[in-house]
Amino acid sequence: MTHRLSVFLSALALVLFLSSGRSPAQLHPAHEHGAARLNVVAEEGGFVADLESPLASFISFEHEPSTPEQRAEVADMVAKLARADEVFQTDAAAGCRLESLALSSANIPADLLGEYASKEPAGRGHDGGEAGHDHDGEEAGHDHDGEEAGRDHDHDGEVHGDLDAEYVFACSDGAKLAGLKVGLFELFPNLEEVEVQVAGAGGQSAAELTASSPELKW
Ligand SMILES: [Zn+2]
Repeated sequence: MTHRLSVFLSALALVLFLSSGRSPAQLHPAHEHGAARLNVVAEEGGFVADLESPLASFISFEHEPSTPEQRAEVADMVAKLARADEVFQTDAAAGCRLESLALSSANIPADLLGEYASKEPAGRGHDGGEAGHDHDGEEAGHDHDGEEAGRDHDHDGEVHGDLDAEYVFACSDGAKLAGLKVGLFELFPNLEEVEVQVAGAGGQSAAELTASSPELKW
């Protein structure tokens, strides 16, 4: 093979690879079963906690639920995530209460997320970045043409999916809030670590929380 031909073939392979809409997993360490990412922005009036996690950190599958058992598992997950004062435990002196909770997942139909279903379409933006099959922007769960929009498959054909949860808390005395305890580990035994980025009165910082070290300070 001439050098020029091999360069051409390499370039062609790269183009085909890029246009396939698939990305190598190592570019997306974000989707790691047992892990979650959390962004917290704290201000005097309260805080916003944006949680993004593989579904597998919460339930036993990541595809769209198809059996009564799987639907029950999703309902149980939603009920646990809705226990906001357990998920994010704050100093009572700060007087924080949940203002809103929005859940979204490309693989979970909005009706299963109930009143917490995000009004924004799932499967876009920060849903894990692995979505290479979301061509039509349709909301997950309304895809009647048989295309698996918004879903991801790994090399074994297994479906992967993420869950996003955005919590907004209002605090009557937010100045007294200098941190919180993440209670997710007790609610979800599959969850092993939460990587946190926090922006608070003390500036920005990062932390890695685990079941034995679930406290966040800012
Ligand atoms: Zn997965």
